[in-house]
Amino acid sequence: MNTITTLKRGAITIHAIPVLNDNLVYLVCREDAALLVDAGEAAPVKAMLESEQLRLTGILSTHRHGDHTAGLSKLQPLVCSSATVASVHTISVPGHTPDDLAFYLPDAGVVFTGDALINGACGRVPSAEAAVTLYESLQRLAALPDDTLVLGGHDYLQENMRFALAENPACTAARERLECYRIDAPGAIFATIAEEKSTNPFLQSANADDFARLRQRKDRF
Ligand SMILES: [Zn+2]
Repeated sequence: MNTITTLKRGAITIHAIPVLNDNLVYLVCREDAALLVDAGEAAPVKAMLESEQLRLTGILSTHRHGDHTAGLSKLQPLVCSSATVASVHTISVPGHTPDDLAFYLPDAGVVFTGDALINGACGRVPSAEAAVTLYESLQRLAALPDDTLVLGGHDYLQENMRFALAENPACTAARERLECYRIDAPGAIFATIAEEKSTNPFLQSANADDFARLRQRKDRF
């Protein structure tokens, strides 16, 4: 995905902004107030704030990795309002790092999942123990309402669906999602919890051991 995608969710407008190689950051807006989710790079966010005449009200960070935080020092000084854009429920989703967070906005029906649940797959883990932790974190995300839209930290959708099909060649839903990417990349990337459950093999593991083995196969894929 190489252009900004705008999603309307009731009174909330979300701009998904591609930054760096394949990262995604999000501006969550109500009228002219905007909340940023992740800050991998400052310039594209700054340009969007200026072109849409938005006031930055705060920055949420899903986790500490540099490709999600490198723009923080330049963007933090731009916070100029304390207006509330939306009510945010923070969900602890460790595993990829020890303290990943997801942000669920019930009024907009979206969840920002960083590198815990990346659309179509999940983040890497540093150890077998962390794989168990991430498995448990993904169970919490999978328990959100089925129509919740998942907004992850990267566009790895093609690779992720190819892996899903390598694991389960009969998965029609994964094949359709991969085909959809070619004509409508954002439509394929941004999927609901229900669609993630039907296409994302990491939400289909029967237990933590199966999940850890699946994650190892993905590392080698
Ligand atoms: Zn990361």
